[in-house]
Amino acid sequence: MPATEEFTGWVGLDAKSVEGNLVKTTFHPKIFSDDDIDIKISHCGMCASDLHTLRSGWGPTSYPVIVGHEIVGTVTRKGKNVTQFEIGDRVGVGAQCQSCLTCEDCIHDNEPYCTERVFTYNDTFANGDVAYGGYAQEGRYPASFAFKIPDGLPSEIAAPMMCGGITVYSPLKRNGAGPGKTVGIVGIGGLGHFGLLFAKALGSDKVYAISRSKAKEADVLAMGAEGIIATKEPGWSKTWTRKFDLIVSTANNADMPLADYLSILKPGGRFVQVGLPEEPIPQLSFGPLVMSNVSLLGSLLGSRSEIAEMLELSATTGVKSWVQTYPMEEVNKVLELMDDGKAKYRFVLSN
Ligand code: NDP
Ligand code: ZN
Repeated sequence: MPATEEFTGWVGLDAKSVEGNLVKTTFHPKIFSDDDIDIKISHCGMCASDLHTLRSGWGPTSYPVIVGHEIVGTVTRKGKNVTQFEIGDRVGVGAQCQSCLTCEDCIHDNEPYCTERVFTYNDTFANGDVAYGGYAQEGRYPASFAFKIPDGLPSEIAAPMMCGGITVYSPLKRNGAGPGKTVGIVGIGGLGHFGLLFAKALGSDKVYAISRSKAKEADVLAMGAEGIIATKEPGWSKTWTRKFDLIVSTANNADMPLADYLSILKPGGRFVQVGLPEEPIPQLSFGPLVMSNVSLLGSLLGSRSEIAEMLELSATTGVKSWVQTYPMEEVNKVLELMDDGKAKYRFVLSN
């Protein structure tokens, strides 16, 4: 097919697009290769990263941009090297859509750290073609980063797992969440609610929500948490000193009590930051790290095998994303709701 074929999507043209100014228009997807699939997009979750990107919060975004990296849809076309999917299969695509698949990182299940990785939007393929995300009716992606959605998992439930879910599943799994462990999740938004659900699904003994207030208490208990810790209550960390084995932080703002979070880890405990605030990391003295032998780590997305494992675990154990679904035509209204912190806990756009 000629390179001039067109798909339709909701395009951000400048930093003001985050205020609900996406424009529905046509765009040229990447040139179709033998390794690609085309997807008729049925659902796309809305991640805070979409907002950071639209507003150029992490540095200048390359406009025009189509955000959205929690994509589910059906395969409508496949390249001749694609053997793992049939036309009509239901698949998901997350925040990474390509890596070299041959480097040390790729062969050791660390594809997110491949130096040739391509993100699903605001990025380019090696030939210079632009990568476009899922706020669209159709998408074109390398099949190697698409995943079959298990039959038991509805599309709107699976979509937000493709980024929000895997971003917490991976560090929980890699850092020992499971039987005998006490796990804390900082920030109960899209990623954070998955943190509670997956920490429980992995068999952690006790899982706590670490939130700024107790406003989400009823919800986190329904998600399986033991309780909620409110960090705006003075002296909160004293009650919890050295109680946690692992904390995964999804905090989306750097105005956070980092030293206090570290103080509630047991010696040898780990604090994994996955949230990516636009501001620099808070100032920290060496004491909180050295005096109790705790680790401060970061983590990006998850590997392909972890994505497949997470989807299977969700289908078999009944992990269910908490979503509110809106027609994609209403994306501009939903962007404003998301920016106002109204998601409980993930907005999903549907075509
Ligand atoms: P949401 O907006 O859904 O949730 C963010 C949560 O952060 C809020 O619900 C809030 O929880 C908490 N929060 C906000 N301000 C503060 C603060 N000052 N101190 C502590 N906590 C705070 O966002 P998402 O879950 O979609 O995304 C979270 C972050 O993760 C974003 O920065 C996003 O870009 C990043 N991200 C990173 C990925 C990675 O691979 N590392 C992948 C995907 C996203 P509460 O009200 O409970 O305090
Ligand atoms: Zn995301």
